[in-house]
Amino acid sequence: MTTGSEASRSAAGTTAAVPVAVGWPQSWRWRDVPPGPGRAVVFDIDGVLSDALGRQHFLEHGRRDWDAFFDACGDDPLVTEVARLLELLDGSLRIVLLTGRPLRVQPQTLAWLGRYQLRWDLLIMRDRDEHARAAAFKHAAVGGLRRAGLEPVLAFEDDPRNRDMFHRAGIPCVYIHSGYYE
Ligand SMILES: [Mg+2]
Repeated sequence: MTTGSEASRSAAGTTAAVPVAVGWPQSWRWRDVPPGPGRAVVFDIDGVLSDALGRQHFLEHGRRDWDAFFDACGDDPLVTEVARLLELLDGSLRIVLLTGRPLRVQPQTLAWLGRYQLRWDLLIMRDRDEHARAAAFKHAAVGGLRRAGLEPVLAFEDDPRNRDMFHRAGIPCVYIHSGYYE
């Protein structure tokens, strides 16, 4: 994990080429050069920044079509209240988007973030071979962030299980009520 930050630091000012995240998990996508250690705020995407209500029907009435659910993520409306809050956060904070979305919908996710001009530094998605439950996946990501020197100081979540995980990890978590988990 330190390899990536060392690579980025050593490369700073010595070459125009942005180092390709050597040492970072493949599922970690930095917006620019990794910003280095610091305090981070972690946002979930579905049900927190994006309004996934229009595709919940893929998961309801006995249907659990996760592929269709995630494939449609690029058309979600923005949750404007949370987006405004994100915009108002102190500029020194690293913004981490930690989502259970699979890596294959990264293109739609990046396009969506660009469309709404959301601020972020690091996007963490589920890798192709990552099938753990959401709370376990996010708990592992928290460990990775800490090893990388990014200390999560606050999180935003709409899944009570993930909120509980953040609390157990010593991270205050603002619960956003999406209604998806009732
Ligand atoms: Mg969510």
